[in-house]
Amino acid sequence: MRQLFQGGIVVSGDGQRKADVLTEDEKIIGVESRIEAVDAEIVDITGKYLFPGFIDGHTHMDLEVSDTVTADGFDTGTKAEISGGTTCIVDFATQNRGESLAYALARWHKKADGKASCDYAFHLALSDWNESVKEELWSAVKGGIRSFKLYTTYDGMVVDDQAIYEILTCLKELGGIAGVHCENKGIIDARLDALLKKKGERKDVADYPGTRPAGAEAEAVSRILKIAACVDTPVIIVHLSSKEGYEEICRARERGQTVYVETCPQYLLLDESRYKGADARKYMIAPPLRTKEDQAVLWKALAEGEIQTVATDHCSFTEAQKDMGAEDFARTPCGMPGGEERPALMYHFGVGEGRISPEQMCAYLSENAAKLYHLYPKKGVIAPGSDADLVVWNPDITWTLLKETQQSEADYCPFEGTILRGRAEAVYLRGKLTAKNGAVINPCQGQYVKAGHERLGDEA
Ligand SMILES: [Zn+2]
Repeated sequence: MRQLFQGGIVVSGDGQRKADVLTEDEKIIGVESRIEAVDAEIVDITGKYLFPGFIDGHTHMDLEVSDTVTADGFDTGTKAEISGGTTCIVDFATQNRGESLAYALARWHKKADGKASCDYAFHLALSDWNESVKEELWSAVKGGIRSFKLYTTYDGMVVDDQAIYEILTCLKELGGIAGVHCENKGIIDARLDALLKKKGERKDVADYPGTRPAGAEAEAVSRILKIAACVDTPVIIVHLSSKEGYEEICRARERGQTVYVETCPQYLLLDESRYKGADARKYMIAPPLRTKEDQAVLWKALAEGEIQTVATDHCSFTEAQKDMGAEDFARTPCGMPGGEERPALMYHFGVGEGRISPEQMCAYLSENAAKLYHLYPKKGVIAPGSDADLVVWNPDITWTLLKETQQSEADYCPFEGTILRGRAEAVYLRGKLTAKNGAVINPCQGQYVKAGHERLGDEA
């Protein structure tokens, strides 16, 4: 079947132009200023943007963590994603200690197979580093995993400096890259202990951001970048939240290092005042929400092109799950939903308020993630040969974020009541109309995407 998208404004990371887009079955076959319709169903998108399907490079679906499992598995989590315009996620398949990489990956395929409503690729989070895991890395990379995740905190996940050095060295040889969760575990643990000693309890969430200060992020960013410099390899700093952390990145870049940076809408739009009041636990994420000054620094970095991707860190829990921390906030599962609202938040507060251009939105929400995670040019671009993942973006729809209408199983919306202008009116997954104005009309069509294309910076 052929479809002709007529009269829209086609957006890429480096420009926008009026063009017609012709698709055949699952692929784009033509992008021209004018295409005469021959045997094609016409989709009139005059006056609307056409973006390549958005990519969420940071999600946790069906993740066992903090003695519970995330509210969203691949079924509801990917419905949330595609309803907002995201046609591909890169989820963190996670190796628990003692597991082989093959076992961890097989488990993640099982979690996702047949359930996803958008396409999905995997990163592999490494928590155990030894000779047999080292042996396995090559087959993981050959099997289509090119990006890995390392944690500098969390008891079951943290890897030490020697492991980080050795992993980065191996990935450099194999053509993989690591994304790192940067927070200094020692500072966090010491502050949690001190708080308990001082107050005899840890109930007041207002104390939470103080246990994970910006300095703890900055220290870990600095350390990771110094280790990466010794190895002479690029790394990705994921969910950057603070000015202090960003300053370490700027210093490393001044030294000539290549550093990729991801941030998330919550760090751009919400601040630590959320940790006061009855809803405070719902906003417990790690790193925590920061100050308005931190937000301003991150927005400026986006405007200047110094941050490469905006992902969600979608890691959803219900209010009841969040209440596991009622007696001790340190027992609260950290994370929030965000898959559904990311594109509209970035359009409204980014493009709509003049902070970033539609081209930058395309780069941060789609193209750069595709390049960084080896999905390009299959994903992340509207060009002949690419998957027909298309988002018809209507800049004039005004709508409100509400927990009642969201797809996520989380029974709250962190941005409840926010009125947004601009919405993914129609979302096509490999040529098939899959979501319309927030409703998923063609569920469970998502496929696994093997990484293995160009990486950002590899071309020319
Ligand atoms: Zn995460």
